[in-house]
Amino acid sequence: MSRKPFLAGNWKMYKISSEAESFAKEFKSLVSDVKDRDILICASFTLLPVLAKEFNGTNIMLGAQNMYFEKEGAFTGEVSPLQLIDAGAKYVILGHSERRHIFGETDELINKKVKAALQYNLLPILCVGELLEEREAGKTEAVVKTQVVEGFKGLSKDEALKVTIAYEPVWAIGTGKTATPEDADSVHSFIRKVLSEIYDKDTSEKIRIQYGGSVKPENIDSLMAKPNIDGALVGGASLKADSFTRIVKFN
Ligand code: PEP
Repeated sequence: MSRKPFLAGNWKMYKISSEAESFAKEFKSLVSDVKDRDILICASFTLLPVLAKEFNGTNIMLGAQNMYFEKEGAFTGEVSPLQLIDAGAKYVILGHSERRHIFGETDELINKKVKAALQYNLLPILCVGELLEEREAGKTEAVVKTQVVEGFKGLSKDEALKVTIAYEPVWAIGTGKTATPEDADSVHSFIRKVLSEIYDKDTSEKIRIQYGGSVKPENIDSLMAKPNIDGALVGGASLKADSFTRIVKFN
């Protein structure tokens, strides 16, 4: 089963419009020759309009990093799936570890967001991953299984096929520590087994699983060489056009 490589940048709460615009101008020319790979930038809500304008007609897709699950209403400070689509987003990251651990998002809330995104044709990137103490206690598989099962709860097979999973061990995010390609691949393969139990083997083989956690130009090639690693969700190294280009152009 060949899955199209999917390289996504998560800018977190970085950049103002002028910085986003100059990144976009440089990046789109650097990656214009890239074929057969999906490229995505997930940026703050305020940056979506300027990026949508710059990426229009290019091979770079746009995404957001969070949303609320209602279409509209009295939810001060929240952003709806409809508003994200309107701003040019095609994807939305949901359940990022910073949302889970800083803002207390639960599996139940994340599942509501996944369903709402799909309802409005926004494609979710569902993030899962264990804390360091969970890994050290041998609980990685149990934690990741719960996050996957709860995140996909109530999704039909057709809906599940629209979801990308990002496996991001929390201890590797922004720390400079990366899971070894072997460790990451083994968790990815476990996630695929969980998906095959929820759906079937064919469906589990089609869903893309990105790795995230201190991905850099120096380690992308060895990660992407693994059979179950279908792409990367990249934080820090996606903020500079040259480093993210090297990641997109992995060997
Ligand atoms: C992330 O933001 O999802 C991430 C993995 O960050 P970093 O690449 O900086 O570790």
